[in-house]
Amino acid sequence: MDIKVTLTENSRLSEVDFKNIPFGKIFADHMFSADFINGTWSNFEITPVHRLSVHPALMALHYGQSIFEGLKASMTQDGTAVLFRPDLHAKRLNASAERMCMPLVPEEMFVEVISKLVGIDREWIPKQRGSTLYVRPLMFATDEFIGVRASEKYKFLIITLPVGPYYNKPVSLLAETTYSRAAQGGVGETKTAGNYGRSLYPQMLARQQGYDQVLWLDAKEFKYIQEVGTMNIFFVLGNKLVTPATTGTILKGVTRASIIEIAQDRGIEVEIRRISIDEVVDAYNSGDLKECFGAGTAALVAHVDKIKYKDLVMELPKSTEVSKLIKEEINGLRDGTVLDTRGWIYPVTQDVMV
Ligand SMILES: *Cc1c(COP(=O)(O)O)cnc(C)c1O
Repeated sequence: MDIKVTLTENSRLSEVDFKNIPFGKIFADHMFSADFINGTWSNFEITPVHRLSVHPALMALHYGQSIFEGLKASMTQDGTAVLFRPDLHAKRLNASAERMCMPLVPEEMFVEVISKLVGIDREWIPKQRGSTLYVRPLMFATDEFIGVRASEKYKFLIITLPVGPYYNKPVSLLAETTYSRAAQGGVGETKTAGNYGRSLYPQMLARQQGYDQVLWLDAKEFKYIQEVGTMNIFFVLGNKLVTPATTGTILKGVTRASIIEIAQDRGIEVEIRRISIDEVVDAYNSGDLKECFGAGTAALVAHVDKIKYKDLVMELPKSTEVSKLIKEEINGLRDGTVLDTRGWIYPVTQDVMV
């Protein structure tokens, strides 16, 4: 694959205070772009980050063919830039693409271009523990056409952002019993733009009641727990780690899959199954609910200290025993202080000569 590289002449690196990075607003110097035209990917380019100019009939804006991914690059203590499980993110992007009738991105291309882009902007990877370079690949429909059909042309872009630790405080959740995030047969399993748009209104209502995030329940009975914002959810019930099974309505988190494997390797019993909000209430009342946390790339793990369901406010135990163990291991893999025995860590191309 031939990537045309144009490096910036005005790096913004020196303007960034790495000890105090506002989330989502500071972008590294370069971006990757490619176009899907006539049935194939072309125009591979790395350039300084710049605005795009779009036609008002750009199909992505009207009909929602727009998907994304989120993964992290970090710096090991010996100075190697690494990616965390980029192969799984490639597979998930393609699962999203398939469901949204969009072209696939070859897995090797996905990993190679991220590796190259991160290699070029490696100075942008924060060195503080828990801080990382967030990588945001996205793809959207670019035909200029009014009428509902799949687009024939697409753009695939990657931008990167240095980020500090995401949630410093524990989070409170409001179990939502009026609005839903995902119904069986829908697109809950895909990282597609509309899933986030539809969540904003209930999220605003939760905030007005003083809660940080919505805890989504199933769309039919409002009984079974799905997930939170951009995190999967885990409960420690007795001595078991329990998380909802992903049966089409829940995003299959890479962090979720990693946590399940780490916990099992540590001898913790993991149950992946349907879990109702009533079961959580019962466990809370009996003292069996020991710990609750959200898990996703952005936050890694976020301790949940409060859940409201109907009129019941559950103040959860302060214990972070399991979530801490997992956080330590994943952060250790990212900074190279924990040996990667599972092949999760992918070193970035070091030769950035162009
Ligand atoms: C991205 C995302 C997650 C977390 O997935 P990771 O691969 O762990 O980052 C969970 N839920 C939703 C809705 C998401 O968009």
